[in-house]
Amino acid sequence: MSVTTGNPYQQLARISGLEVRRDEPMARHTSFGIGGPADILVIPQDTASLLEVVRCLDAADIKPLYIGNGTNLLIRDGGIRGVVVKIAGALTGIEHNSNQLISGAGEALAAVCHHAAQQGLSGMEFAAGIPGSVGGGIVMNAGANGGEIAQVLEWVEAINAGKEVKRYQRSELDFGYRRSQFQAGRWVITRAAVALTPTTPSRVRQLMYEAVERRCQSQPVSDQSAGCIFKHPPGDYAGRLLEETNTKGMQVGGAMISPKHANFIINMGGATAADVLALIRQVQDKVEAKFGIRLDTEICIRGEDM
Ligand SMILES: Cc1cc2nc3c(=O)[nH]c(=O)nc-3n(C[C@H](O)[C@H](O)[C@H](O)COP(=O)(O)OP(=O)(O)OC[C@H]3O[C@@H](n4cnc5c(N)ncnc54)[C@H](O)[C@@H]3O)c2cc1C
Repeated sequence: MSVTTGNPYQQLARISGLEVRRDEPMARHTSFGIGGPADILVIPQDTASLLEVVRCLDAADIKPLYIGNGTNLLIRDGGIRGVVVKIAGALTGIEHNSNQLISGAGEALAAVCHHAAQQGLSGMEFAAGIPGSVGGGIVMNAGANGGEIAQVLEWVEAINAGKEVKRYQRSELDFGYRRSQFQAGRWVITRAAVALTPTTPSRVRQLMYEAVERRCQSQPVSDQSAGCIFKHPPGDYAGRLLEETNTKGMQVGGAMISPKHANFIINMGGATAADVLALIRQVQDKVEAKFGIRLDTEICIRGEDM
């Protein structure tokens, strides 16, 4: 059944508090500024309307793509046939309970960092400057400087295969380097709690400030990108392999390997997903020819070719 003409679209349009957009360019929802149109993009107001969306799509056998802030996403130029459900900016709010911060999945990691600093709670410093949402951060097990979200996570609430909101303790969940079981795409995260350690606001602020400073020095933070393109291979660093392969400045169409950081591809203006994918392959080939290692991508690549 076509999602643009059949019952699911009409049913979605009836869910109260739901923003529904048709033929929505995904370039507007990714930090790369790249991506063809989604047939339908919906933005739920709260967990109740999200639950209705999930149940409605499940009844029509439609598997949506859940997205957060789109900062780790490359959407192909043909866009998404089906439904995208955007959580970032929708399921928001942060509660503070002793050493615990409870946050909506659509809240920005930056807001959680800000709140932690205000309360003098340590543990989120690694996330300072990571531009994603809480939900996206958990799915990707986002991390930096030796820290990662799984280290501070206490529980996650998600709408599961039974189409119910259920709380999962950290011990029930499986995380690895930039990996979580949520990457299968079947569950949508709605809320999460992190357990932090009391210290002073000035100490947390100082560490976060230093982390952001280091990023600004080493990363092309004002260019359009999706963060690091490649994961570290076991026992090595993607950055080392890329530096030694002299890939900086390589270009395909509007996509270029950042001259500032070899693991970032930047959109110079008008880059297509095809440009980025061709550049990724060229870099993978060069690194493999020199070191015999095929780098694996860290970014999530979704959607259809033109
Ligand atoms: C300049 C820059 C710097 C970056 N630095 C870092 C860094 O230091 N460390 C790091 O780890 N990453 C970094 N990133 C990448 C990115 O910010 C993180 O991976 C972030 O956690 C992604 O969050 P998001 O909300 O943007 O997720 P999205 O990109 O929207 O989605 C990522 C994945 O999560 C899924 N998803 C998102 N929200 C939900 C949800 N609520 N429920 C279920 N599935 C969901 C999506 O389907 C997708 O598979 C950087 C990116 C940029 C642009």
